[in-house]
Order: sequence, then structure tokens, then C-alpha cells
Amino acid sequence: MYDLIIIGSGPAGLTAAIYASRAKLRTLVVGGTVWGGQLMFTGVVENFPGFKDGILGPDLMNNMLEQAKKFGAEIIFEDATWVDFSARPFKVGVDQKAYKGRAVIIATGASPKWLGLKGEERLRGRGVSVCAVCDAALLKGKVAVVVGGGDSAMEDALTLSKYAREVIVVHRRDRLRASKLLQERAFKEPKIKFLWNSVVQEILGEEKVEGLRLRKVDSGEEFELRCDAVFIAIGRQPSTDIFRGQVELDEKGYVITKDGAMTNIEGVFVAGEASDAKYRQAIVAAGEGCKAALDAIWYLENNA
Ligand code: NAP
Repeated sequence: MYDLIIIGSGPAGLTAAIYASRAKLRTLVVGGTVWGGQLMFTGVVENFPGFKDGILGPDLMNNMLEQAKKFGAEIIFEDATWVDFSARPFKVGVDQKAYKGRAVIIATGASPKWLGLKGEERLRGRGVSVCAVCDAALLKGKVAVVVGGGDSAMEDALTLSKYAREVIVVHRRDRLRASKLLQERAFKEPKIKFLWNSVVQEILGEEKVEGLRLRKVDSGEEFELRCDAVFIAIGRQPSTDIFRGQVELDEKGYVITKDGAMTNIEGVFVAGEASDAKYRQAIVAAGEGCKAALDAIWYLENNA
């Protein structure tokens, strides 16, 4: 029996683990087969306070993991596949196995959205990607397309421009959603071109990506664009499917909070992107992990 089970091992989950284990709670992190969250797929993080020259995303997460372990948190690198919050102790399941906890923190984050297009699934890993940092180096001298107009799309385009011959950003409107700073950097990079008011209709290619079929939003005109890879950067969705019917979710699937980090179930808390559709920053997730751990500590003190 654990005092606290944390589901997820991004900045929210691991910060919660640091606080909880340092407060001597018997803490288990069900960290996922792919642990560490989105920062594991990020290059240099320049805006996490305390690292004035930046820090690589994976290094930051490794530091958090070691810090949590140092205080005694246990971590398993498995995916939680079900939960039962209907009775205490709460249960967190990995297939047939059930871990029991007096309190739970949901810190499962969010994952990238896909376009849902013909060819997308089939060519995944063969030119279709949601991780520019992972795949950019494979595109030396090639043409890459980035779909989206937000911060992620601009970051991806800038990352890809270090390797690719040309990067084309395909955006459905004529204006970007990305922050001014990233927009300016992207506009200044000569390798990055923009294709405005355009939507992808189909990803072309048999064995690997060879191009896209696009449609102009205003005229409806269809045309083809040759490229070697397409990076989808159109936003994210919360990874909360296993909590459906267990805690209250909003219509987009984000966990609804009340009274700090508490969900509608007393003793079940949430931190990070699983409940945050707005800020979606590592530092915010870490701060929320701290809040959720403190709420869990206080809850357990009052419910011995
Ligand atoms: P986002 O801000 O939600 O932007 C998604 C982009 O994709 C938008 O431009 C949107 O178009 C477009 N889009 C959405 N669905 C589409 C579809 N089906 N087909 C074509 N285009 C579609 O998502 P994000 O860029 O992943 O950023 C998420 C959050 O993380 C933001 O808060 C962002 O600030 C933050 N972030 C920050 C950094 C950083 O600070 N360095 C880096 C990455 C992300 P419309 O504009 O027309 O809606």
C-alpha cells in the first residue's frame, strides 16, 4: 500500500514525487513505458528558471528523476491501463496488476494531435512525424513540411531548418498563432517558407512520404507539393482516457479541478497538462505538481 501514487513522469509528476517523497510519503510513480513527458523530445529549454544558458529537455527530466529517487520515490516504467477511484484505497492498474494508494495524483499530460488523414498512419515513422527534434537530423538536404501555425510549429520549423534544405510551413489561415518572438525568428530564417490559407488533404507516397495534396481554403483549388517529410504540429490533447467515468472531465477531456489541485473525488488530485489547456509549460506543470503534492500531503494528514 502506498501513501501516494502518481500517474505520469513529466515535470508535473516528478515534481510531485520530489515533494511527496521528501515529506516522507511512501510514493510510487507509475511513469509510463515512455517516461519523462514532452521534454524528452525537446532540444534546449531556454525558459526554465535557474538554467541561464538553457538545459537540454532530457537532461532536465533526468535530473528531476534522480532528485525524486534520492528522496525515496519508487518509479515503475509501465503504463497505467486502468484506475478504480470508486472506493478507498484507490487502485491504479497496470494490466492485471493493481497498485493501491491512499491518494492519487493524475499527471498524465497531453499528447500531440494528428490530422486523421489518408496516408498519415501508414507513413508514420516513414516521413510522417510529430517530433522534429527526434527526426530533424535525418533530413539533411531534404524538404520538410510543418503543418500548424502555433509555437510548436515555429519551433519545429526552426529545428528542421538546421538540417533540411527547405522548410515549408503550411497554415490554414493567413496569420500565425505563435508568439511574436518565435514568429520573428521563423520569418528571419531564409530556409523557412510559408504556405498560407492551405490545408493538407492527403499525404502522398507508398513506402515513404513523397508529397502532399493540399487545398487552398479561399479558392478551393487543389494542388500537390513535393516533400520528403511532414511534421504535424497542430496542438495537443489530454491523455486522460483511462480516467473517463472515474473523475470529471470537460468536453475536451481535461480533468476539472476544484479547490486547488483536487478533482471531484476527494484524495485524487491532478497536475500539469492533463488539466491545463491554456499554459502548457514545463514550469507551470512543475508548479502544479508541487501544489498537488502539498494538497495530497494535507489531505493524508487529515485523513489518517
Ligand atoms: P496551438 O497553440 O494550439 O496551435 C495549434 C496550431 O495548429 C494553430 O495554428 C492551429 O490553427 C493549427 N491547427 C489546429 N488544428 C488544425 C487542423 N486540424 N488542421 C490544420 N491546422 C490546425 O498548439 P501548439 O503550437 O502545440 O502550442 C501549445 C501550447 O504550448 C501553447 O500554449 C504554446 O504557447 C505552448 N508552447 C510553447 C513553446 C515555447 O514557449 N517555446 C513551444 C511550444 C509550445 P489556428 O491558428 O487557425 O487555430
